Amino acid sequence: PNSKQSQTVGLHTILGAGHLAPMVELAKLFLGRGFAVIIAVPTPPASTADVAASSAPAVARIAAANPSISFHNLPPPDYPEPDPDGFQQLLDVIRLTVPILLTFLRSLPPVAAVVLDLFCVDALDAAAAVGVPAYFYFTSSAGVLAAFLHLPHYFATTEGDLKDMGKALLHFPGVPPIPASDMPHNVLDCADVIGASLVYHYRRMPEARGMLINTYEWLEAKAVTALGDGACVPDRPTPPVYCIGPLIVKGEDAAKGERHACLAWLDAQPERSVVFVSFGSMGAVSAEQLKEIARGLENSGHRFLWVVRSPPPEDPAKFSLPRSEPDLGALLPEKFLERTRERGMVVMSWAPQVEVLRHAATAAFVTHCGWNSILEAATAGVPMLCWPQYAEQRLNKVLVVDGMQLGVVMDGYDEELVKAEEVEKKVRLVMDSDEGKKLRGRLAMAKEMAAEALADGGPSCTAFSDFVDDLQRCK
Ligand code: UDP
Repeated sequence: PNSKQSQTVGLHTILGAGHLAPMVELAKLFLGRGFAVIIAVPTPPASTADVAASSAPAVARIAAANPSISFHNLPPPDYPEPDPDGFQQLLDVIRLTVPILLTFLRSLPPVAAVVLDLFCVDALDAAAAVGVPAYFYFTSSAGVLAAFLHLPHYFATTEGDLKDMGKALLHFPGVPPIPASDMPHNVLDCADVIGASLVYHYRRMPEARGMLINTYEWLEAKAVTALGDGACVPDRPTPPVYCIGPLIVKGEDAAKGERHACLAWLDAQPERSVVFVSFGSMGAVSAEQLKEIARGLENSGHRFLWVVRSPPPEDPAKFSLPRSEPDLGALLPEKFLERTRERGMVVMSWAPQVEVLRHAATAAFVTHCGWNSILEAATAGVPMLCWPQYAEQRLNKVLVVDGMQLGVVMDGYDEELVKAEEVEKKVRLVMDSDEGKKLRGRLAMAKEMAAEALADGGPSCTAFSDFVDDLQRCK
């Protein structure tokens, strides 16, 4: 038999659909090359009830939808006194799971390689203990990876904290100048426990044998070059990076063959006429902000498809928990739905985003700048109106607007409110102006180059082959 067929690759990811779903797409590439795949997922202990409640159903659903991949829930570690911060809990659970992962790896016939999520750096030790090569799969942009990997060097050689710098520009290799306030909030303070822990993660990442990134070279050429020539990590060697994307997660509805009502609504709209507004899997804005968006959309005179969520919970620790459906009557301006019935559709909580972006009627995308959303827009050729919210999204906004030139910024994203006038102005700019036309030209190119990257012999396809060759060399 083909020697590859007896080889298994272990993927180790964290909880939650946002990290697991991209890992599943990577697993499919391995299956396509004749490997078997095991995805090992940590299980939060009962003491972390919130984290556990929010993630287990997503894992179960994804596992059920992908029977050719073997999913293994690692048993929960002992964690009697959970940190009050949900994100710190997650990092703790992953770290405490490393010995459990090691026992699991020892129980298997040797795997060919381990591919790790960014947050699983300590699993490098488990891979080393069983003598298996370890790689990372970075599911955000090459630009973000370039900035993250540079941070340990930056903090070691620069006085002071980012949090005191306001909008002063950071000049990091491979990325456009970044206003300090656009760095992820949890690295603004490196004296903070979480900030220090993240910097520890970035420092350890180059220990891997290689890093896979869900991007394509054309989109992020400068960042890819800076990573490749070692400019981002000046004080030690950087392992090779493999740009294997854009891997787009297929929506569950599409996979089941069901069609959401909003797609039928889009069918009835003219080509390239609809502004799509959606803030990712967890993004949500205040009730006051919802009203401003409504007024802005209405005054723009354009058609829109808007995913409306309940405002975020007051307790930030509950941010990632499932939310109730929004009460549209109470949240939107009076009679808004009636007045805009002819040209707008409001969807509660969730829309099949990939299909919406690829629909011929969709013309622009108001996005929170999650990396998957950006890739989905780029591959569909849809210009972005960037309205970052959490995690590394502000940094992605800088890359999209100043680097890739695939979008414009919604001013006020870093203030209490983005005003209705700003929403209206930017929608008009993208839909009606010459600048919007230029953007569409860039997007058409981004779409074409994405298809080329993934085609047989294209750069991303070749990068994955190079990675498989490297992994085979370790045998
Ligand atoms: N998504 C979707 N429908 C929605 C909201 C989100 O299908 O109403 C999908 C979207 O297509 C993307 C993912 O959820 O694949 C969100 O990932 P992203 O990296 O953009 O942001 P995150 O939510 O992880 O911050």
